Amino acid sequence: MLGCSVGTFATVCVVLLASGESKAPAKARYFKGNLHTHSLWSDGDDFPEMIADWYKTRGYDFLALTEHNTIANSVRWVDAEKDETRRLAVKKYLARFGHDWVERKQDQGKEQVRLKKLAEVQSKLDEPGKFLMISGEEITHSFQKLPVHMNAINLKEIIRPVDGASVTETMRVNQRQVAEKRKKSGETIVSFLNHPNFVWGVSAKDMAPVDELRFYEVYNGHPGTNQQGDGTRPSVERIWDLVLANRLSFPRGVPLMGLATDDSHNYHVKAMNKPTPGRGWIMVWARELETRQIMEAIDGGDFYSSTGVTLSHVGYKNGVLSLKIEGEVGVSYKTEFIATLKESSEEAIGAVVGSSESLEPAYKISGNEWYVRARVTSNQAHPNPSFKGEVCTAWTQPVLP
Ligand SMILES: [Zn+2]
Ligand SMILES: [Zn+2]
Repeated sequence: MLGCSVGTFATVCVVLLASGESKAPAKARYFKGNLHTHSLWSDGDDFPEMIADWYKTRGYDFLALTEHNTIANSVRWVDAEKDETRRLAVKKYLARFGHDWVERKQDQGKEQVRLKKLAEVQSKLDEPGKFLMISGEEITHSFQKLPVHMNAINLKEIIRPVDGASVTETMRVNQRQVAEKRKKSGETIVSFLNHPNFVWGVSAKDMAPVDELRFYEVYNGHPGTNQQGDGTRPSVERIWDLVLANRLSFPRGVPLMGLATDDSHNYHVKAMNKPTPGRGWIMVWARELETRQIMEAIDGGDFYSSTGVTLSHVGYKNGVLSLKIEGEVGVSYKTEFIATLKESSEEAIGAVVGSSESLEPAYKISGNEWYVRARVTSNQAHPNPSFKGEVCTAWTQPVLP
């Protein structure tokens, strides 16, 4: 729901229980989650339960493990002694989950450890109202040497990537696969393009014509994803405006929404040049921590993205886009309202049309905007940055006048 009014669920309804008693539904609130994570099921370096536990104990409400072209539902063993990192991972795994839970065997004199399936990890870590694991996959493909990676969240069966005749077609045919799965399963499966600037694989020009593509990563915590662009190529955030301006200047253009994710792979070191967890996440506005509700909220655009700025409210009502920032003591915030105005030049795409240092910034739509979105930057350094000089930021979804 673009142009949604997040945080303004005024209707009070009553849920009838089987017993005939009624119960008022939970009040909507923000739930924090990461939808891009790798474990030993692909090229991450830790066991899935350890990773889920990392997120759970740090206040995350939900998590999707998104392995390269894999869903964790088969029997798989890994070498316990592959290298120093693996030995450390096994040691920590045993210490945290115990000998009764961790499954080991000897194979030709080598110790093996079994990777638990998603259902097993869920049985151990999921907790009603506290932590929810959602299935996922990173559909990992390329066109020639250009990587085209797309996450699909809440799918039960693997999607094997198929070829397209260009980068654009590769996105399109694979997004269509996701749409088909969604239709067939009746589940809300959400898919987004990952890290467009990774190996400079996907440009705004490639993305804009793919109407099937409704989401992309405005922030990916992997330090190899050229988040800031370079001298000649735009930043990942700039790509958002380029796609939005291109699409929305046509009738019935499909907006693009932006997610922040970790793309975490390394869990045993903390270094700027490693893809470690805890860098970027989304905050989803829902009543309950339940897969359908979380997925429907994301699908409808009822979420914002963050690397450390917390919002308690994002609303769009009567032509006013308004935010409430949960300010921290000693930290200052700057909100920029970013828009592309109708009939503006190419250079004016994604221009800052309003700016505020208030904790309750607002922007009144003039009607001359194709779209407006907000970015809040704080003066606080990111505690675990993926690039030099990174500060805590939040991004809200574009609204269409
Ligand atoms: Zn990727
Ligand atoms: Zn990834």
